[in-house]
Amino acid sequence: MHADTYRHRGLRRALVEELRRKGIRDERVLTAIGTVPRHLFFEAAFQPHAYQDKAFPIGEGQTISQPYTVAYQTELLQVQPGERVLEIGTGSGYQCCVLLELTPHVFSIEYNQVLFERTARRLATLHRPAHLFCGDGSLGLPQHAPFDKILVTAGSPALPRPLLRQLRVGGSLVIPVGDEHTQRMVRVVRESEEEFSRQVLEEFRFVPLLGQAGWKE
Ligand code: SAM
Repeated sequence: MHADTYRHRGLRRALVEELRRKGIRDERVLTAIGTVPRHLFFEAAFQPHAYQDKAFPIGEGQTISQPYTVAYQTELLQVQPGERVLEIGTGSGYQCCVLLELTPHVFSIEYNQVLFERTARRLATLHRPAHLFCGDGSLGLPQHAPFDKILVTAGSPALPRPLLRQLRVGGSLVIPVGDEHTQRMVRVVRESEEEFSRQVLEEFRFVPLLGQAGWKE
């Protein structure tokens, strides 16, 4: 069940080469994708497809993001060893484990109680020591702020103010922003206490960020 075989490692190497061809350049990100056994984050029925560059259902109407999207967001974050990273939308825990390959200080928050419990058990079994929380991640985790990097893995209608406030000066937020159908990836850097700069990048399609600073349910 938790086996990571020679065949899986071969499929991961092929996935890494596919991501390289699609434009991912950061070798640390590619190494992380080549290390984390993505098939262990899937329900049994979807496991044979785990190394396709596609999003898949993980239950509760949610998805594990496409590997290209995971690599693209992680590359934009430019996580340095030792930095404190907050992920909004733990989902399967896969992105969280990719981040753990880059820094040991990963905080992740999931809104859906069922997914939260399932993924907390999964990461314990896999001995991946992330700090996991259940709640409305659109409000961030003020009790653990500030963060060097914040990554949102669900589509938001706007930049959530609580997340901007929880960035340390010099830190950055990567978040898809748009309507229910498509979003543009946005990278915001906190230049000073009061100043933020922003880059608007490629188009993506995410499940909605729910909650007080996201979409109302
Ligand atoms: N990063 C995940 C992974 O690696 O499997 C995929 C995330 S999935 C595309 C988006 C996740 O965001 C879903 O699990 C959803 O329940 C969660 N979500 C939506 N709104 C949220 C909120 N306000 N706070 C925390 N999680 C939220």
